[in-house]
Amino acid sequence: MQIIKTVKSMRDTVHSLANKTIGFVPTMGFLHEGHLSLVEKAKKENDIVVMSIFVNPLQFGPNEDFDDYPRDEKRDAQIASKHGVDYLFIPSTEDMYPTKVTNIKMKTLHIANVLCGRSRPGHFDGVITVLTKLFNIVNPHNVYFGMKDAQQLAVVKSLVTELNFPINVIGVNTVREEDGLAKSSRNVYLSDQERQDSLALYKSLRHGQKLIIDGIKSPATIKDNIKEKLNATTGEIDYIEVLTYPNLEEVQDINETIIIAVAVRFNEARLIDNIILTKDGQLIERIN
Ligand code: AMP
Repeated sequence: MQIIKTVKSMRDTVHSLANKTIGFVPTMGFLHEGHLSLVEKAKKENDIVVMSIFVNPLQFGPNEDFDDYPRDEKRDAQIASKHGVDYLFIPSTEDMYPTKVTNIKMKTLHIANVLCGRSRPGHFDGVITVLTKLFNIVNPHNVYFGMKDAQQLAVVKSLVTELNFPINVIGVNTVREEDGLAKSSRNVYLSDQERQDSLALYKSLRHGQKLIIDGIKSPATIKDNIKEKLNATTGEIDYIEVLTYPNLEEVQDINETIIIAVAVRFNEARLIDNIILTKDGQLIERIN
Protein backbone atom coordinates (compact mmCIF):
# COMPACT_ATOMS: atom_id res chain seq x y z
CA MET A 1 0.00 0.00 0.00
CA GLN A 2 1.17 3.48 -0.82
CA ILE A 3 0.44 6.42 1.47
CA ILE A 4 -0.21 9.65 -0.40
CA LYS A 5 -0.13 12.95 1.43
CA THR A 6 -0.71 15.63 -1.18
CA VAL A 7 -3.48 16.45 -3.60
CA LYS A 8 -0.96 16.71 -6.41
CA SER A 9 0.52 13.25 -5.91
CA MET A 10 -2.97 11.74 -5.57
CA ARG A 11 -3.90 13.31 -8.90
CA ASP A 12 -0.68 12.08 -10.53
CA THR A 13 -1.31 8.58 -9.24
CA VAL A 14 -4.88 8.52 -10.52
CA HIS A 15 -3.63 9.75 -13.87
CA SER A 16 -1.16 6.86 -14.04
CA LEU A 17 -3.99 4.37 -13.40
CA ALA A 18 -5.76 5.37 -16.60
CA ASN A 19 -7.52 2.11 -17.54
CA LYS A 20 -8.20 0.72 -14.09
CA THR A 21 -11.49 0.95 -12.24
CA ILE A 22 -11.15 2.82 -8.96
CA GLY A 23 -13.27 2.07 -5.90
CA PHE A 24 -13.13 4.89 -3.37
CA VAL A 25 -13.80 4.75 0.37
CA PRO A 26 -13.80 8.21 2.02
CA THR A 27 -13.39 8.14 5.83
CA MET A 28 -12.36 10.23 8.80
CA GLY A 29 -10.09 7.45 10.04
CA PHE A 30 -9.84 5.65 13.39
CA LEU A 31 -10.74 2.61 11.35
CA HIS A 32 -13.01 -0.20 12.49
CA GLU A 33 -14.81 -3.12 10.85
CA GLY A 34 -17.48 -0.77 9.48
CA HIS A 35 -14.91 1.00 7.32
CA LEU A 36 -13.33 -2.31 6.39
CA SER A 37 -16.58 -3.76 5.09
CA LEU A 38 -16.64 -0.88 2.59
CA VAL A 39 -13.06 -1.76 1.59
CA GLU A 40 -14.03 -5.40 1.18
CA LYS A 41 -16.88 -4.50 -1.20
CA ALA A 42 -14.65 -2.05 -3.08
CA LYS A 43 -11.97 -4.71 -3.54
CA LYS A 44 -14.44 -7.16 -5.02
CA GLU A 45 -15.87 -4.65 -7.48
CA ASN A 46 -12.84 -2.61 -8.66
CA ASP A 47 -9.23 -3.02 -9.83
CA ILE A 48 -7.88 -0.47 -7.35
CA VAL A 49 -9.05 0.67 -3.91
CA VAL A 50 -8.36 4.20 -2.72
CA MET A 51 -9.21 5.14 0.86
CA SER A 52 -9.03 8.68 2.15
CA ILE A 53 -8.63 9.75 5.76
CA PHE A 54 -9.52 13.36 6.33
CA VAL A 55 -11.21 14.86 9.37
CA ASN A 56 -13.01 17.60 7.52
CA PRO A 57 -13.26 20.80 9.62
CA LEU A 58 -16.02 22.12 7.38
CA GLN A 59 -18.52 19.50 8.51
CA PHE A 60 -18.12 20.12 12.25
CA GLY A 61 -20.10 22.80 14.06
CA PRO A 62 -18.36 25.26 16.44
CA ASN A 63 -19.34 23.24 19.54
CA GLU A 64 -18.74 19.82 18.05
CA ASP A 65 -15.91 17.33 18.55
CA PHE A 66 -13.51 18.31 15.74
CA ASP A 67 -10.54 18.74 18.11
CA ASP A 68 -11.39 15.64 20.11
CA TYR A 69 -12.25 13.40 17.16
CA PRO A 70 -10.14 10.23 17.65
CA ARG A 71 -7.12 10.06 15.35
CA ASP A 72 -4.42 7.40 14.96
CA GLU A 73 -2.78 7.59 11.56
CA LYS A 74 -0.15 4.94 12.18
CA ARG A 75 -2.64 2.33 13.33
CA ASP A 76 -5.00 3.23 10.48
CA ALA A 77 -2.23 2.76 7.91
CA GLN A 78 -1.43 -0.70 9.26
CA ILE A 79 -5.08 -1.73 9.22
CA ALA A 80 -5.74 -0.31 5.74
CA SER A 81 -2.66 -2.04 4.34
CA LYS A 82 -3.59 -5.37 5.90
CA HIS A 83 -7.05 -5.19 4.34
CA GLY A 84 -5.88 -4.53 0.83
CA VAL A 85 -6.23 -0.78 0.36
CA ASP A 86 -3.93 0.13 -2.56
CA TYR A 87 -3.62 3.87 -1.94
CA LEU A 88 -4.25 5.64 1.36
CA PHE A 89 -4.80 9.36 0.77
CA ILE A 90 -4.18 11.49 3.89
CA PRO A 91 -4.16 15.13 2.82
CA SER A 92 -3.49 18.03 5.17
CA THR A 93 -6.17 20.63 5.89
CA GLU A 94 -3.96 23.29 4.28
CA ASP A 95 -3.71 21.27 1.09
CA MET A 96 -7.45 20.58 0.94
CA TYR A 97 -8.42 24.16 1.82
CA PRO A 98 -5.54 26.36 0.63
CA THR A 99 -7.84 29.35 0.34
CA LYS A 100 -10.65 30.40 2.68
CA VAL A 101 -14.12 29.50 1.39
CA THR A 102 -15.29 33.00 0.54
CA ASN A 103 -16.51 32.98 -3.03
CA ILE A 104 -18.25 29.66 -3.45
CA LYS A 105 -20.41 27.73 -1.04
CA MET A 106 -22.18 24.45 -1.67
CA LYS A 107 -25.53 24.12 0.00
CA THR A 108 -27.81 21.18 0.68
CA LEU A 109 -31.56 21.85 0.60
CA HIS A 110 -34.60 20.07 2.06
CA ILE A 111 -32.93 16.65 2.38
CA ALA A 112 -30.63 18.18 5.01
CA ASN A 113 -33.40 19.82 7.05
CA VAL A 114 -34.26 16.65 8.95
CA LEU A 115 -32.44 14.13 11.16
CA CYS A 116 -28.71 14.91 11.65
CA GLY A 117 -28.92 17.86 9.26
CA ARG A 118 -31.39 19.57 11.58
CA SER A 119 -29.32 18.84 14.69
CA ARG A 120 -26.06 19.80 12.97
CA PRO A 121 -26.67 22.93 10.87
CA GLY A 122 -24.20 23.20 8.00
CA HIS A 123 -22.93 19.66 8.49
CA PHE A 124 -24.04 18.33 5.11
CA ASP A 125 -22.87 21.48 3.33
CA GLY A 126 -19.40 20.59 4.63
CA VAL A 127 -19.86 16.96 3.60
CA ILE A 128 -20.84 17.74 0.00
CA THR A 129 -18.06 20.30 -0.31
CA VAL A 130 -15.32 17.92 0.77
CA LEU A 131 -16.75 15.05 -1.27
CA THR A 132 -16.92 17.17 -4.41
CA LYS A 133 -13.25 17.98 -3.89
CA LEU A 134 -12.33 14.35 -3.18
CA PHE A 135 -14.34 13.07 -6.17
CA ASN A 136 -12.54 15.57 -8.41
CA ILE A 137 -9.15 14.51 -7.04
CA VAL A 138 -9.64 10.72 -6.96
CA ASN A 139 -11.91 10.39 -10.00
CA PRO A 140 -13.46 7.11 -8.83
CA HIS A 141 -15.84 4.84 -10.72
CA ASN A 142 -17.54 3.56 -7.57
CA VAL A 143 -17.78 5.12 -4.12
CA TYR A 144 -18.75 3.23 -0.99
CA PHE A 145 -20.69 4.66 1.95
CA GLY A 146 -22.10 3.04 5.06
CA MET A 147 -25.84 2.77 5.56
CA LYS A 148 -25.15 3.63 9.20
CA ASP A 149 -24.99 7.24 7.95
CA ALA A 150 -28.11 6.82 5.86
CA GLN A 151 -28.84 10.51 5.50
CA GLN A 152 -25.28 11.08 4.28
CA LEU A 153 -25.78 8.26 1.75
CA ALA A 154 -29.00 9.90 0.50
CA VAL A 155 -27.28 13.30 0.29
CA VAL A 156 -24.34 11.84 -1.65
CA LYS A 157 -26.73 10.09 -4.05
CA SER A 158 -28.40 13.45 -4.71
CA LEU A 159 -25.04 15.20 -5.12
CA VAL A 160 -23.87 12.69 -7.71
CA THR A 161 -27.18 12.64 -9.60
CA GLU A 162 -27.86 16.37 -9.58
CA LEU A 163 -24.30 17.46 -10.41
CA ASN A 164 -23.72 14.65 -12.96
CA PHE A 165 -20.72 13.00 -11.42
CA PRO A 166 -20.01 9.83 -13.46
CA ILE A 167 -19.83 7.79 -10.25
CA ASN A 168 -21.87 4.91 -8.80
CA VAL A 169 -22.74 5.37 -5.14
CA ILE A 170 -23.05 2.12 -3.22
CA GLY A 171 -24.56 1.88 0.25
CA VAL A 172 -23.15 -0.91 2.42
CA ASN A 173 -24.95 -2.50 5.36
CA THR A 174 -24.16 -1.33 8.91
CA VAL A 175 -21.57 -3.44 10.73
CA ARG A 176 -22.41 -4.05 14.38
CA GLU A 177 -20.82 -5.34 17.54
CA GLU A 178 -22.07 -8.79 18.54
CA ASP A 179 -24.61 -7.23 20.88
CA GLY A 180 -26.02 -4.99 18.13
CA LEU A 181 -24.33 -1.62 18.73
CA ALA A 182 -23.38 -0.06 15.40
CA LYS A 183 -19.60 0.23 15.13
CA SER A 184 -18.43 3.82 15.31
CA SER A 185 -15.17 5.65 15.92
CA ARG A 186 -17.02 7.58 18.65
CA ASN A 187 -17.92 4.45 20.67
CA VAL A 188 -14.56 4.74 22.51
CA TYR A 189 -16.02 7.71 24.37
CA LEU A 190 -18.82 5.74 26.03
CA SER A 191 -18.59 5.02 29.77
CA ASP A 192 -19.42 1.46 30.89
CA GLN A 193 -22.94 2.51 31.82
CA GLU A 194 -23.43 4.30 28.50
CA ARG A 195 -22.08 1.32 26.58
CA GLN A 196 -24.77 -0.76 28.28
CA ASP A 197 -27.42 1.86 27.53
CA SER A 198 -26.33 2.20 23.91
CA LEU A 199 -27.85 -1.20 23.18
CA ALA A 200 -31.26 0.42 23.41
CA LEU A 201 -30.76 2.15 20.05
CA TYR A 202 -30.68 -0.97 17.88
CA LYS A 203 -33.10 -2.87 20.14
CA SER A 204 -35.68 -0.12 19.83
CA LEU A 205 -35.23 0.03 16.04
CA ARG A 206 -35.80 -3.71 15.77
CA HIS A 207 -38.85 -3.34 17.98
CA GLY A 208 -40.13 -0.71 15.54
CA GLN A 209 -39.54 -3.14 12.70
CA LYS A 210 -41.52 -5.82 14.53
CA LEU A 211 -44.46 -3.46 14.92
CA ILE A 212 -44.46 -2.85 11.15
CA ILE A 213 -44.30 -6.57 10.44
CA ASP A 214 -47.24 -6.98 12.83
CA GLY A 215 -49.21 -4.57 10.66
CA ILE A 216 -48.79 -1.21 12.43
CA LYS A 217 -48.79 1.54 9.79
CA SER A 218 -48.66 4.60 12.01
CA PRO A 219 -45.26 6.31 12.39
CA ALA A 220 -46.50 7.98 15.60
CA THR A 221 -47.16 4.63 17.27
CA ILE A 222 -43.73 3.35 16.26
CA LYS A 223 -42.01 6.51 17.49
CA ASP A 224 -43.86 6.36 20.84
CA ASN A 225 -42.72 2.78 21.37
CA ILE A 226 -39.12 3.64 20.56
CA LYS A 227 -39.23 6.70 22.79
CA GLU A 228 -40.29 4.62 25.76
CA LYS A 229 -37.24 2.39 25.33
CA LEU A 230 -34.76 5.23 24.76
CA ASN A 231 -36.12 7.21 27.70
CA ALA A 232 -34.96 4.40 29.96
CA THR A 233 -31.29 5.18 29.14
CA THR A 234 -28.96 7.80 30.61
CA GLY A 235 -28.75 9.42 27.16
CA GLU A 236 -30.76 12.36 25.90
CA ILE A 237 -32.89 11.70 22.81
CA ASP A 238 -31.92 13.95 19.90
CA TYR A 239 -34.42 12.57 17.42
CA ILE A 240 -36.63 9.59 16.61
CA GLU A 241 -37.97 9.68 13.06
CA VAL A 242 -39.85 7.53 10.58
CA LEU A 243 -39.39 8.98 7.08
CA THR A 244 -39.49 7.86 3.46
CA TYR A 245 -36.13 6.72 2.11
CA PRO A 246 -34.17 8.09 0.29
CA ASN A 247 -36.20 11.32 0.05
CA LEU A 248 -36.53 11.68 3.84
CA GLU A 249 -40.08 13.00 3.79
CA GLU A 250 -42.80 12.73 6.39
CA VAL A 251 -45.04 9.69 6.03
CA GLN A 252 -48.65 9.32 7.19
CA ASP A 253 -49.16 5.59 6.67
CA ILE A 254 -46.24 3.30 6.00
CA ASN A 255 -46.71 2.01 2.45
CA GLU A 256 -43.28 2.57 0.85
CA THR A 257 -39.60 2.15 1.70
CA ILE A 258 -38.88 3.91 4.97
CA ILE A 259 -36.09 4.64 7.40
CA ILE A 260 -36.45 4.49 11.16
CA ALA A 261 -33.65 6.63 12.55
CA VAL A 262 -32.59 7.58 16.06
CA ALA A 263 -29.92 9.78 17.62
CA VAL A 264 -29.04 9.86 21.31
CA ARG A 265 -26.61 12.14 23.07
CA PHE A 266 -24.45 10.61 25.76
CA ASN A 267 -21.86 12.55 27.75
CA GLU A 268 -18.99 12.50 25.27
CA ALA A 269 -20.59 10.91 22.24
CA ARG A 270 -23.69 11.37 20.16
CA LEU A 271 -24.77 8.02 18.70
CA ILE A 272 -26.92 7.49 15.63
CA ASP A 273 -28.48 4.36 14.22
CA ASN A 274 -31.16 3.42 11.70
CA ILE A 275 -32.78 0.64 9.78
CA ILE A 276 -34.16 0.91 6.26
CA LEU A 277 -37.22 -1.22 5.58
CA THR A 278 -39.53 -2.21 2.77
CA LYS A 279 -43.17 -1.29 3.32
CA ASP A 280 -43.67 -4.81 4.75
CA GLY A 281 -40.90 -4.33 7.28
CA GLN A 282 -38.14 -6.35 5.61
CA LEU A 283 -34.57 -5.06 6.15
CA ILE A 284 -32.83 -3.54 3.13
CA GLU A 285 -29.13 -4.38 3.36
CA ARG A 286 -27.50 -2.79 0.31
CA ILE A 287 -28.35 0.29 -1.73
CA ASN A 288 -27.13 0.74 -5.29
P1 AMP B 1 -16.50 8.01 9.08
O1 AMP B 1 -15.04 7.70 9.20
O2 AMP B 1 -17.24 7.85 10.38
O3 AMP B 1 -16.78 9.28 8.37
O4 AMP B 1 -17.09 6.87 8.16
C1 AMP B 1 -16.56 6.63 6.88
C2 AMP B 1 -17.50 5.71 6.15
O5 AMP B 1 -17.64 4.49 6.87
C3 AMP B 1 -18.90 6.30 5.99
O6 AMP B 1 -19.40 5.96 4.70
C4 AMP B 1 -19.67 5.61 7.07
O7 AMP B 1 -21.06 5.51 6.79
C5 AMP B 1 -19.03 4.24 7.07
N1 AMP B 1 -19.27 3.57 8.34
C6 AMP B 1 -19.04 4.06 9.58
N2 AMP B 1 -19.45 3.18 10.52
C7 AMP B 1 -19.97 2.12 9.84
C8 AMP B 1 -20.55 0.88 10.25
N3 AMP B 1 -20.70 0.56 11.53
N4 AMP B 1 -20.96 0.03 9.29
C9 AMP B 1 -20.82 0.34 7.96
N5 AMP B 1 -20.27 1.49 7.53
C10 AMP B 1 -19.85 2.36 8.45
